[in-house]
Amino acid sequence: MIDKKQKSSSPPAEFTERIARLLLSFIAGSTQSLPAEDNFRKQLEGMTAVIRKGVRISPATELDKEVENYFDRLILEHKFVDEEKDIVKTMVLEVVETIKSMMTSSGDFDGNIGKCTEKIQGAATIQEILRVKDYLVNEMQKAREHSHTLREELEKHRTATETLSKKLEESEAKALVDSLTNVLNRNAYNLKIGQLVHEFKRYKEEWALLVLDIDHFKKFNDTYGHKTGDKVLKSVAATVLNSIRASDHIFRYGGEEFVVILGRINKETTKKLSEKIRKEVERDYFVDGDDKLKVTMSIGAAIITPEDTETSLFERADKALYQAKQNGRNQVLVDI
Ligand code: GH3
Ligand code: MG
Ligand code: MG
Repeated sequence: MIDKKQKSSSPPAEFTERIARLLLSFIAGSTQSLPAEDNFRKQLEGMTAVIRKGVRISPATELDKEVENYFDRLILEHKFVDEEKDIVKTMVLEVVETIKSMMTSSGDFDGNIGKCTEKIQGAATIQEILRVKDYLVNEMQKAREHSHTLREELEKHRTATETLSKKLEESEAKALVDSLTNVLNRNAYNLKIGQLVHEFKRYKEEWALLVLDIDHFKKFNDTYGHKTGDKVLKSVAATVLNSIRASDHIFRYGGEEFVVILGRINKETTKKLSEKIRKEVERDYFVDGDDKLKVTMSIGAAIITPEDTETSLFERADKALYQAKQNGRNQVLVDI
């Protein structure tokens, strides 16, 4: 039952004071979140002055403390929204940094970034955004480590390639010499012939190219065996080398075929020097047990002209060789 007397009379002073304090707490809280120039804020502050004049305020009770706390929380949440912006900024910066540091990203990494973008766009709460941020930062870290490993591997490959190309250069230098006969090989010929043709065009000093081919060497191998054939090949190369000048060149062009370059010659000396080589080979023999093994060779020669290229000169000498073979082998034919 409600006391009629109490109901009709004015509220007790203590009650009025409590209401006034609550009112002041609400006003204090509301004004904090309003801009300083806001009109409503000014009105609220005016009201504070009026309430304070009418009522003597004692220290805050539990209830008005709660109201104040409530507004404090509200303000904190506003700050939180600002922090949220900072987090997004950090994330964007992180993405930019990582993309900069990662010129070569893996397809997998691209996919994960795509997922993050979707997640950020779809995130409704700060917790969701924070979760995506953690995930993204983690991905970035992984990606950086990955790119670091890639760079290290690239560096390793580069060092290995350098070592390999050095070795290759060394072996290429070695590869200019034929391992069986120890005279220069076809690679060396290819390198030298261009230089010689070029020099002729400049200095006009004639030289001759000879193609030498051992006669019936297949039959020789069939009769004495391939190993003995090898030894004879070696011996023939040495014989040819000994019968030319130090400034001349001998190359093993392939199989039982050699190329000789004779410098400072004319037609007559070419024929003479080629004959000398042929005779030396014919005279020479290789001792195999009780056997004295002999081979002969046919030689085709051509003297360089201003119209010649490496190919045309070789072809002329080779044609002459073919003719020498046709004419009965063990002879020299100079292309005129
Ligand atoms: P031709 O007088 O027409 O030149 O007759 P050929 O038998 O010399 O010529 P062909 O081209 O028919 O055969 C070449 C032979 O040279 C065949 C091969 O057994 C031999 N030969 C080529 N290279 C080597 C080698 O490195 N070692 C040995 N033992 N034989 C070789
Ligand atoms: Mg041959
Ligand atoms: Mg032959």
